[in-house]
Amino acid sequence: MRPSPVTLTIDPDRNGVQHGHMRLPYSRDDSAWGSVMIPITVVKNGVGPTALFTGGNHGDEYEGPVALFDLARTLDPARVQGRVVIVPAMNYPAFAAGTRTSPIDKGNLNRAFPGSPEGAVTAKIADFFTRELLPLADLVLDFHSGGRTLDLLPFAAAHILDDKAQQQRCFDAVKAFGAPYSMRMREIDAVGMYDTMAEEMGKIFVTTELRGGGTATAETIAIARRGTLNLLRHAGILDGPVEVAETTWLSMEADGCFLFSEHAGLVEPHCDLGAKVAKSEPIVSIHSIERCGQPPVIYRAPHDGILASRHFPGLVQVGDHLGVVATFAS
Ligand code: ZN
Repeated sequence: MRPSPVTLTIDPDRNGVQHGHMRLPYSRDDSAWGSVMIPITVVKNGVGPTALFTGGNHGDEYEGPVALFDLARTLDPARVQGRVVIVPAMNYPAFAAGTRTSPIDKGNLNRAFPGSPEGAVTAKIADFFTRELLPLADLVLDFHSGGRTLDLLPFAAAHILDDKAQQQRCFDAVKAFGAPYSMRMREIDAVGMYDTMAEEMGKIFVTTELRGGGTATAETIAIARRGTLNLLRHAGILDGPVEVAETTWLSMEADGCFLFSEHAGLVEPHCDLGAKVAKSEPIVSIHSIERCGQPPVIYRAPHDGILASRHFPGLVQVGDHLGVVATFAS
C-alpha cells in the first residue's frame, strides 16, 4: 500500500513535550496547496509504555477535547515514564464545524477504519491512525459522548472480546478510569470502528460515553480529567495510586437492549437516565404531530434494568435510537 500522505510535524521518538500537527494535504478552492492541520501533542520521557488518548472522533462530543487539550497543556514530562500521544480532535474538520461527521466528505471517522491513503480526507485520517499511531500504543483511550442526538449515563466501557486475557486487561483499565458507571459492551455494528481496529491489534482499549446533547458539563469534564490521569497511573506512565472512584457495573450485551423507533413524532419520556425499570414498564411514548386525538405509541422496557441512553432531541424519526435498557453486571 502507498505511504500515508499525512506528515507529522513533530518527532514522536523525541524526549520532552512537543506540540505539533498531523498535516494532511487538502487541495481546495480557497487553498490550492492547503492542508487539514490536526493538533497533536507527544509527551515522552525515557523508556516505558505508550498511551494514545483521543477525542473528537465524532465532532460534536466535547468532554474528550476539553480534557485532552488540558492534558496536553499541563502534563509535565519530568513526571512521565514512557510516552503519551494526545490527539484532542481526531476528526478535526468535524470538530471545527461542531458536527458528528466531516463537512468535507461527510465521513463518520468511527465507521471509516482501517481507512485508506487514497480515500477522501476522513479515510486518510483513519489510515494514519491505523498504520502510524496505533502501532506505537500499548493503551488506547478514545473519548466519546452522545453528541447532539444522544444522551447517555456517564460511563467508561470495553467490549466483549474473543481473547479473554485481552478482554480482562481492557476491563481492568475501565475500572481504573473510574467513571460513575462501567459498561460491558457489544456494538450495534462494530465494522469500521477505531475500537475494533485497536482491539484487533491487541491493544488495551477503553472508550467512554460521558453524557451528550452536543455539550459538556463541569461534572462530565471532571470525570474525563480524572479518567485520563487514572489511566496514566494504571499504566505506570504517571507515578502514584489510581484515584479510586465508586462505579456501578452495567452491561449492554442483552438481545433487544437497544430500542429503535418505528414511528415518527413527539417524544414523551416516562423515565430519565439512571432510572431503574422493570420489564414492560413504559420508557417513552411517541405522539403524532399530524393531528390531535391520536393515541400515542408506547415503547416498553424489554427486560429489567436501568435506562442508560436516550434520544436527545424532542422529535424522532423512524429508525432513530430511542434508548438502551442496560442490565446490572458485576
Ligand atoms: Zn462518538
